Amino acid sequence: MISCKDAVARLWEYLDRNLGRVEERELEEHLGLCRHCCGELEFAQQLRTRLRQEGPAVTLPPETRHKLEAFVRSLGEQR
Ligand SMILES: [Zn+2]
Repeated sequence: MISCKDAVARLWEYLDRNLGRVEERELEEHLGLCRHCCGELEFAQQLRTRLRQEGPAVTLPPETRHKLEAFVRSLGEQR
């Protein structure tokens, strides 16, 4: 099974449907078993919907923004 790091790194691509069939399957398998990454998916989905609705000028509540910043930082650390 793929690691949480891999799963989180694939979330946005997954939401954009940019993953290959195998990668998508691996991610879904992981999400089915990992509550942590399920939460991350939910968060990413909500954030994406929000950004789409409100555009780049969106003002996020501090709590969400901190979580987003931590999320982006964690993605950066993997590269
Ligand atoms: Zn996980």
